[in-house]
Amino acid sequence: MVFRIPMRTRFRGQTAREGVLLRGPAGWGEFSPFPEYGPRECARWLACAREAAFEGWPAPVRDTVPVNATVPAVPAERAFELVRSSGCATAKVKVAEPGQTFADDLARVEAVRDALGPAGRLRVDANGAWSADEAVRRLKELDRFGLEYAEQPCATLEELARVRRACDVPIAADESIRRAEDPLRVRAAEAADVAVVKVQPLGGVRQALRVVEACGLPAVVSSAVETSVGLAAGLALAAALPELPYACGLGTMTLLSGDVTADPLVPEGGALRVRRPEVDEHALSEFAIESPRWLGRMQEASR
Ligand SMILES: [Mg+2]
Repeated sequence: MVFRIPMRTRFRGQTAREGVLLRGPAGWGEFSPFPEYGPRECARWLACAREAAFEGWPAPVRDTVPVNATVPAVPAERAFELVRSSGCATAKVKVAEPGQTFADDLARVEAVRDALGPAGRLRVDANGAWSADEAVRRLKELDRFGLEYAEQPCATLEELARVRRACDVPIAADESIRRAEDPLRVRAAEAADVAVVKVQPLGGVRQALRVVEACGLPAVVSSAVETSVGLAAGLALAAALPELPYACGLGTMTLLSGDVTADPLVPEGGALRVRRPEVDEHALSEFAIESPRWLGRMQEASR
């Protein structure tokens, strides 16, 4: 079944999330690579969907997974409200947004610290936008609000490694990890303290578990903004990791305007209960589209 679900806000320049849901003896799986990805990259996303549909996942070692609130580049008052209403003890704040100033970042981060209180955990995400010098300067300033870590302050591994040596804020690699071999490169370059991992691009839950183990860095499981079918795979990874020291980026269901299950994977009290929601055929039919293009993408990825 090919689906198209409108998003509440634009994400990666898209206004809707599309993909294929496939059903096998073990349940439903989601294949939803981003539009610009070619067959080689898509093959890993398909492996994740097939694992879900035909094998199922390893047993969980925990029954809840804490998630972070995500604060986009909004004004400080709005940032405060978002975090307060989320019920999350951890918040990730977007910084270095094009067209905004560093004063905007400082105000937003300060507001989020106020909303979280001193015990809350606060991380920032620059999506690779700073130079290394800029990152060192800015992280030192932002750290007066107590940073848990900084996600992808710069674009390259070399820059991340430089920033990591020059300041005390731990560094997380996100955009630097897109394929199974990347976490090992991040580790070898001493570029990060934390690895942000997504289950579809890594090729499924078992493959991601192997990658995290080989990498040796603590992992934060993040979504690729999937339906609850795709999110369930990320949740299964977060639930099966031997150690989970950080809240995960799996609270993204609310970015979509609808879901394919009657039991969406939406956080309660800042955490997701580990489960695999049943697909609701009626909900699915609401978002089903005809798309030879998607079936073609899946066939090419398969080859
Ligand atoms: Mg990120």
